[in-house]
Amino acid sequence: MTATGTGVYFDGQTSLRQDVHVALGADLAIRGTDGRRIADWPFADLREVPGVPGQLRLTCEGSAPLARLDLRDPALAEHIRAWSPNLNTAHVAEASVQRRVVLWSLAAVVSAALFGVYGVPALADQIAPLLPWSVDQRMGAAVDRQIRYVLPIGGDRFECGDRPEEKPGRAALDALAKRLSDAAGLPIPIRIVAVDSDIPNALALPGSPVYLFNGLIQAAQSPDEVAGVLAHEIGHVAHRDGSRRTLQAGGTSFLFGFVLGDFAGGTVAIFIARTLSEASYSRAVESAADAYAVALMRKIGGDPKALGGFLARLDAEEDDKGSPLDYLASHPATAERKRAIDVAVGDAGDASSTMMDEASFRALKSICGGSRP
Ligand SMILES: [Zn+2]
Repeated sequence: MTATGTGVYFDGQTSLRQDVHVALGADLAIRGTDGRRIADWPFADLREVPGVPGQLRLTCEGSAPLARLDLRDPALAEHIRAWSPNLNTAHVAEASVQRRVVLWSLAAVVSAALFGVYGVPALADQIAPLLPWSVDQRMGAAVDRQIRYVLPIGGDRFECGDRPEEKPGRAALDALAKRLSDAAGLPIPIRIVAVDSDIPNALALPGSPVYLFNGLIQAAQSPDEVAGVLAHEIGHVAHRDGSRRTLQAGGTSFLFGFVLGDFAGGTVAIFIARTLSEASYSRAVESAADAYAVALMRKIGGDPKALGGFLARLDAEEDDKGSPLDYLASHPATAERKRAIDVAVGDAGDASSTMMDEASFRALKSICGGSRP
């Protein structure tokens, strides 16, 4: 007997979600919608990833550790449960994560011993600016993959902008990103990811992507406020702040991983992702990114004061909520920053907005399907 159905497959390497056909025969056969072979997973090797309500999430021992298959069809899930003897035994991904923890811990101890004399932060400060930009990009890509894997914060998806009704919003964001990126003139392209989350936050990974959370898009009252936040985050990329932070967090064990070619090593990247997202940069680092934002906004003819105004308004609105993940929690001393921005801008500020037209801004606002009450 062969049961068939559909599912969603993630290859564990990219964030791409693929709609697939699933057929239960000798193995669990995963095929693309065009019939292309994607994988054949033996039933004995299937493991269930627990805690995904309303669906069966599978991994397969011996295949790519982060590859997974989501199935929503209860009948199909029932068949698979019946046919897979080891579905709920601890799966290899966990075992390999544990192995990695041990390995990385050893590496961390060694590196701490080696560099304890110099101090890792100081070392990271010296190393980060010397690294080729391709290293920033690889760090960012690795952390990006891990964050998407561990934080499916928007329910089904992490990034928005790819549904047909969201395309105009994506186009508006891309146009703004290109303008900022061109003006910044960095040796690497800046990629912006619209994150499907109501948390008002933004975050720059090493070498980009810059995460722009929907909560922040919804809170913005003008395109210049969005542009100001992005300009600030691009400042972090330009100053290699995320890379420095990543090096500090992972110490030289991260470099070990780089040398050993295990750059996407799960544990370390997860650890660093957490460190980055909870990072509170020093005031000096934040001020430098603010100054960068002011200069960049001037360069593209935007309102350089918008960022400071936006920060102050968020601060006032968020005062009593105070989520540890919100933008201001990771960006301290708002009033002081607004003053510094205003001083830097001087009287020459208040450019009228030319960032995007009304229609584009409305489209941007609905990039994640609009605001949710
Ligand atoms: Zn910042």
